[in-house]
Amino acid sequence: MAKKSNYNRLTVEGDIQTKWICGCFETVDGFFRFCSQHGELMKNTIVSQIDKLDMTTVVEEK
Ligand SMILES: [Zn+2]
Repeated sequence: MAKKSNYNRLTVEGDIQTKWICGCFETVDGFFRFCSQHGELMKNTIVSQIDKLDMTTVVEEK
Protein backbone atom coordinates (compact mmCIF):
# COMPACT_ATOMS: atom_id res chain seq x y z
CA MET A 1 0.00 0.00 0.00
CA ALA A 2 2.81 2.39 0.84
CA LYS A 3 4.41 1.61 -2.49
CA LYS A 4 1.30 2.56 -4.38
CA SER A 5 1.00 5.79 -2.40
CA ASN A 6 4.54 6.81 -3.33
CA TYR A 7 3.88 6.08 -6.96
CA ASN A 8 0.81 8.29 -6.96
CA ARG A 9 2.71 11.17 -5.40
CA LEU A 10 5.31 11.02 -8.15
CA THR A 11 2.82 11.32 -10.97
CA VAL A 12 2.13 14.73 -12.43
CA GLU A 13 -1.57 14.01 -12.45
CA GLY A 14 -1.69 14.07 -8.66
CA ASP A 15 -0.35 17.60 -8.41
CA ILE A 16 -2.49 19.43 -10.96
CA GLN A 17 -3.51 22.87 -9.84
CA THR A 18 -5.37 24.06 -12.94
CA LYS A 19 -6.55 21.97 -15.85
CA TRP A 20 -8.11 23.34 -18.99
CA ILE A 21 -10.69 21.59 -21.11
CA CYS A 22 -8.33 21.31 -24.08
CA GLY A 23 -5.88 19.21 -22.05
CA CYS A 24 -3.35 21.81 -20.91
CA PHE A 25 -2.63 21.86 -17.20
CA GLU A 26 -0.51 23.54 -14.56
CA THR A 27 0.82 21.70 -11.55
CA VAL A 28 1.10 23.11 -8.04
CA ASP A 29 4.85 23.57 -8.44
CA GLY A 30 4.54 25.73 -11.54
CA PHE A 31 5.03 23.16 -14.27
CA PHE A 32 2.98 23.72 -17.38
CA ARG A 33 2.02 20.93 -19.69
CA PHE A 34 0.41 21.97 -22.95
CA CYS A 35 -1.82 19.98 -25.23
CA SER A 36 -0.53 19.40 -28.76
CA GLN A 37 -2.48 22.35 -30.12
CA HIS A 38 -1.31 24.93 -27.58
CA GLY A 39 2.15 23.45 -27.28
CA GLU A 40 2.85 24.51 -30.84
CA LEU A 41 1.35 27.96 -30.22
CA MET A 42 3.44 28.43 -27.10
CA LYS A 43 6.56 27.40 -28.94
CA ASN A 44 5.88 29.96 -31.65
CA THR A 45 5.14 32.62 -29.05
CA ILE A 46 8.35 31.95 -27.15
CA VAL A 47 10.40 32.05 -30.33
CA SER A 48 8.84 35.36 -31.36
CA GLN A 49 9.40 36.89 -27.90
CA ILE A 50 12.81 35.45 -27.14
CA ASP A 51 14.71 38.63 -27.97
CA LYS A 52 12.77 40.42 -25.23
CA LEU A 53 13.70 37.93 -22.54
CA ASP A 54 17.21 39.34 -22.22
CA MET A 55 18.90 35.98 -22.20
CA THR A 56 22.61 36.47 -22.67
CA THR A 57 23.93 33.01 -23.23
CA VAL A 58 23.73 32.63 -26.96
CA VAL A 59 26.60 30.49 -28.16
CA GLU A 60 27.79 31.65 -31.54
CA GLU A 61 29.49 29.24 -33.85
CA LYS A 62 32.65 30.61 -35.39
ZN1 LIG B 1 -4.43 23.49 -24.63
